[in-house]
Amino acid sequence: MWKSNKAADLLNKRQKIDKEIDNIQKSCNHPTKSLKSIRERVDSNTTVLRWVCDECFLPIEYPSDKEQENYFKQ
Ligand SMILES: [Zn+2]
Repeated sequence: MWKSNKAADLLNKRQKIDKEIDNIQKSCNHPTKSLKSIRERVDSNTTVLRWVCDECFLPIEYPSDKEQENYFKQ
């Protein structure tokens, strides 16, 4: 048996949380969205601008050039 340690415990928890988020996002109808600056990927430090669902935080759409421009003007 693997010795239980903190990292293994946290990874296990993260997996469960990821699955839960996945379920929420799959059952969500994305009723409202907001333009948000988010990380491109979980392991990335690059931020990108996306339309994100207000309910489940799933990136739904790419903003148009004009929308991006307006966002950065704020
Ligand atoms: Zn949603």
